[in-house]
Amino acid sequence: MKLIDPITQFSNEIQALRRAIHAHPELCFEEHDTAELVARKLTEWGIPVIRGLGGTGVVGVVSNGSSKRAIGLRADMDALPMQELNTFPHASKNEGKMHACGHDGHTAMLLGAAHYLSQHRNFDGTVYLIFQPAEEGGGGAKRMMDEGLFAQCPMDAVFGMHNWPGIAVGRFGLTAGPMMASSNEFEVIVRGKGAHAAQPHKGIDPIMVAVQIAQSWQTILTRNKSPIDAGVLSITQIHAGSATNVIPDEATLIGTVRTFDLDVLDLIESRMKTISEHTAQAFNASVDFRFKRNYPPLINSAAETAFAADVLRSIVGEEGVDAQVEPTMTAEDFAYMLQEKPGCYVFIGNGEGDHRSAGHGLGPCNLHNPSYDFNDALLPIGATYWVRLAETFLKPA
Ligand SMILES: [Zn+2]
Ligand SMILES: [Zn+2]
Repeated sequence: MKLIDPITQFSNEIQALRRAIHAHPELCFEEHDTAELVARKLTEWGIPVIRGLGGTGVVGVVSNGSSKRAIGLRADMDALPMQELNTFPHASKNEGKMHACGHDGHTAMLLGAAHYLSQHRNFDGTVYLIFQPAEEGGGGAKRMMDEGLFAQCPMDAVFGMHNWPGIAVGRFGLTAGPMMASSNEFEVIVRGKGAHAAQPHKGIDPIMVAVQIAQSWQTILTRNKSPIDAGVLSITQIHAGSATNVIPDEATLIGTVRTFDLDVLDLIESRMKTISEHTAQAFNASVDFRFKRNYPPLINSAAETAFAADVLRSIVGEEGVDAQVEPTMTAEDFAYMLQEKPGCYVFIGNGEGDHRSAGHGLGPCNLHNPSYDFNDALLPIGATYWVRLAETFLKPA
């Protein structure tokens, strides 16, 4: 592995920052202390800072030379509303909040790159270091964009990175095209007519209608959508009734739909609506159909993905890069940035959890697990990738 020496030598400081952030997790749009720490460090290293985009968002601006070319490197800063089970010294001090997705590591890796870039300006152009709030469901990326991120910081391409358990340390995964799914949620209320359970003929049973709808929806995936296209429809909650001898008025179906393609999403949503309305009608019931689109699919552009893969090969070698990694049905709001700018999102291997020592919880070392911890061995690897990506993108003519 060809890590950058000064970054490796600075690893202890980056690790201390990572652990400080881990110990003080903050939720969506509440990343005040984290943003303060990030802005303070950038300022200390002589990097001008833009604040306030997306509330707690921070952008560091490192320029050199005269080129107008610019690249964006993005990290997320928010934690999750869950209780940490680890007991090591840097475990969460904030009750019910935890860095279980490794965003503490993302923030630290980008800070490590910032420190190096501020001292060694081996590039011609501008590097925007984007520290965004609220990736976990809050759409912080979108809010930064709505508040002028790309207008204030015009960039030619933007890049993102996520730690990924199950990929070995020193390896990266990426792929051109869809890499993560669109995430959407639905809530469908079936309205019938309550009755005595022993006199069902005097009512309209919403539970039977809901069950019919639930069954029929699955045919959208197997009979309407092309078998080549990916799509998931999971009903995760069914609520109805409160007694053994009462047919309730209503039944509610709640769940999520995921796709890699917006046309497939259009198809699934419209078929779900048709099936629920017509099934209800067939039973003399009615429905309230609510479908909410959250993050769009994350789609890496081909040229920037090839570019990122080449930069990665220069660091971890051919065998360290899986340039056709299997996409996942999880979602990520970096997708919004990739709708407006070319760019690429990569997975940096977090290993199988053997970095965990005493004080770790017993659960698996998976994202969003209360025993999770970002692997500090990644800090110089990720920071080196950011720096080489920026230096190669902004190579002096
Ligand atoms: Zn997450
Ligand atoms: Zn995450």
